[in-house]
Amino acid sequence: MAKHLYLHVPFCKSICAYCDFCHYLYKEDQVSKWLDALKEEMASYKIASALETIYLGGGTPSVLSLKETEKLLSMLAPFSKQLKEYTFEANPESITFDKVRLYKDFGVDRISLGVQSLDDDLLKLTNRKHTAKDVFETVEIIKKAGIDNISIDIIYSLPTQTLSTFMDTLKKALSLDIKHISLYSLTIEEGTLFKAKGYKSLDEDLEADMYEKAKDYLEANGYKQYEIANFAKDGYESKHNIGYWEYDDFYGLSLGASGKIGHRRYDNTRNFNDYLNGNYIFKYYDLTLEDEMFENIMMSFRMKRGLDLKRFKDRYKKDFFSVYKDAYDKHINDLIVKDNYIRVKNLEILNAILVDFLKD
Ligand code: SF4
Repeated sequence: MAKHLYLHVPFCKSICAYCDFCHYLYKEDQVSKWLDALKEEMASYKIASALETIYLGGGTPSVLSLKETEKLLSMLAPFSKQLKEYTFEANPESITFDKVRLYKDFGVDRISLGVQSLDDDLLKLTNRKHTAKDVFETVEIIKKAGIDNISIDIIYSLPTQTLSTFMDTLKKALSLDIKHISLYSLTIEEGTLFKAKGYKSLDEDLEADMYEKAKDYLEANGYKQYEIANFAKDGYESKHNIGYWEYDDFYGLSLGASGKIGHRRYDNTRNFNDYLNGNYIFKYYDLTLEDEMFENIMMSFRMKRGLDLKRFKDRYKKDFFSVYKDAYDKHINDLIVKDNYIRVKNLEILNAILVDFLKD
């Protein structure tokens, strides 16, 4: 049975210029219909009452009103009694002290805040609805309401961004005194406002420079890198995300979510009416043993600690080094085997390594 649950709240107050996530503009009557459908979808699973993590992502979960939030969190209450981590995603412009208190009352102990940049010009360009000042005030509100496990997302390689303006954002981010930082490079996807306006990605060398400098800077300031894009103070690594990277099963609930249970992955529909009509799942992917072993490697190699070799053998009844002999021999100098884990020395060449594991 899956120990992790992801639930996608698909509503936002406005649409960001780079966003291709599943999102609908917030409307009270739509939220009410969505909550009813969600209840039905939850009932279609036998969700374990002993879940270890829940992650409410989006969209923007914090756009929900107090009443709507209470309804949502009450639906999850039977599954949130033994959690090791309960994360709620929020945006600065829609969070309030009372909302955070309500989250906390239901056991939420981690807030993931969509900051993206602390440069007001870039926030405007990306159509975010907050300013850098709002971020500082929001972090204070969250802490005052009693949650100090705060993570922020930062995007780099944004149009017009320079190395110096990016590092300035990081410097300001450190002064927020938060526990966790996720760094994502911008990809300009089809169907986004950035694409429509003809914006291009930054030069690859500049993007690589930004990542390299950010990594060194965060490490030097007490945020340890534990995954390609994630940095945390000691003990504040995301347990939910580690579940993904360890290739655990997880329930994916609501529009636009994905899940994996047993030998199957699935994507839920992004179509609101289909969802309301009970057609939750858009597509199933049946996984062969080879698919599962490779996906497990692909996910676990993203972490600094790498893949747990004992777990691999227990799960698949196969010895890693026998199955992937050719790829391992080819990359013997790029991989480190230690204490029953195998990990990639330099995560920047991860894709080149994975290509050979895929062929094996
Ligand atoms: S980036 Fe987040 S807040 Fe912005 S439109 Fe997309 S889902 Fe909504």
